[in-house]
Amino acid sequence: MARIVMKFGGSSVATAERMQRVAERVARAKEQGHQVAVVVSAMGDTTDDLIALARQVNDRPPARELDMLLSTGEQVSIAVLAMAIQRLGVRAVSLTGGQAGFRVEPVFGKARILDVDARRVERLLADGQVAVVAGFQGVTDEGEIATLGRGGSDTTAVALAASVGADVCEIYTDVDGVYTTDPRIVPEARKIPEISYDEMLELANLGAAVLHPRAVEYAKLYGVPLVVRSSFHDGAGTWVKEEVEVEQGQVVRGIAHDLNVAKVSLVGVPNRRDSLGRVFHALAEENINVDIIVQSIVHNDVHDISFTVCRDDLPGTLQVLEGMRVELGVGEIVAEEELAKVSIVGAGMISNPGVAARMFDALTEAGMSIRMVSTSEIKVSCVIDAEDVRRAVQVLHRAFDLSGTPEESAGTVTA
Ligand code: ADP
Ligand code: ASP
Ligand code: MG
Repeated sequence: MARIVMKFGGSSVATAERMQRVAERVARAKEQGHQVAVVVSAMGDTTDDLIALARQVNDRPPARELDMLLSTGEQVSIAVLAMAIQRLGVRAVSLTGGQAGFRVEPVFGKARILDVDARRVERLLADGQVAVVAGFQGVTDEGEIATLGRGGSDTTAVALAASVGADVCEIYTDVDGVYTTDPRIVPEARKIPEISYDEMLELANLGAAVLHPRAVEYAKLYGVPLVVRSSFHDGAGTWVKEEVEVEQGQVVRGIAHDLNVAKVSLVGVPNRRDSLGRVFHALAEENINVDIIVQSIVHNDVHDISFTVCRDDLPGTLQVLEGMRVELGVGEIVAEEELAKVSIVGAGMISNPGVAARMFDALTEAGMSIRMVSTSEIKVSCVIDAEDVRRAVQVLHRAFDLSGTPEESAGTVTA
């Protein structure tokens, strides 16, 4: 007998019929004698639809109310799934994030999980019942509902798995596993049988939507074995774990892209020692994450500072900067939105010089201009024009020889 957390994403529970298939899969795991907790996302495009609804009545919906609205998507799913499971003669109880003991930071729209009091889930599991938990949400100490950021149900699943000491956390989705890149962009992308937490964390952070970055972070921190597999058929999927076999000659493991990129430039900043610190402290206080930062050389006692943030954070960023403009003596604040980031990731880069150069060559030979660059030991990222991003991913996939044999490739992806 094992203790399993199974997580089903939006497309896996998009319709009543798919809910029934998920219920059957859960019932099968129970029949095999396992203890099962399930985490579900909102049905299909519900979250997008709810955001669109909010925007119809307010183009900048207040964060608290937006979270109140979005959390209902997952609440529909847990009730429907629990009913479908019970119909198969298996006892199941639906729980909201709060009922399942998820205590979160008071940061609407991107709350971090503070802790999980899993006693209620534990009791259900010990009693042979299936706990069906709403993903993506928790409750603050003030009793407010806050969500974990888009894709956050993966994180709910891993955090639950860690707190109940599950043997495995299974992420069921609409692809067969983690691929060398998004198979919707490169149909010849190859499924990766296993990948290290570190490489997966980079890919997720750099935009590979298949796993929420914080889910990978928690899995690594608590040593939760994680597997990504298809909810539509049985297959081995991709294991995310500590140690993996390094494929011979494979320097780049995967390619990620991110369209959620905005660039802000502070032009003509007087050269004061503390200006960098003050700008980034002020942004941090507003919970705005800054990504790539470039500071130009001081010239005539002024310099420029450019950095990237998520597009959703651009209005907030500009508000903070406008507030500091006079005090810093900034000449001009310039914002650019039509940008994207494309990244190559692989632990093999540490010992292979020239990988970044190959990336720059491939992009520039394809006629693209590289606007910003950032590197770490196991990744290189380039900011490019948004309109080039799909082609950039395809060009790099070819340049680093990542395609698989036809059997290993995704072909077309079921939506
Ligand atoms: P879910 O609703 O199940 O959470 P998501 O849409 O969040 O599903 O994540 C699955 C999607 O992630 C896939 O359909 C695929 O388009 C995308 N994706 C991006 N990068 C990758 C990758 N490297 N491997 C597999 N899928 C990827
Ligand atoms: N429903 C949320 C979203 O669409 C959370 C999730 O699916 O993980 O982002
Ligand atoms: Mg997801």
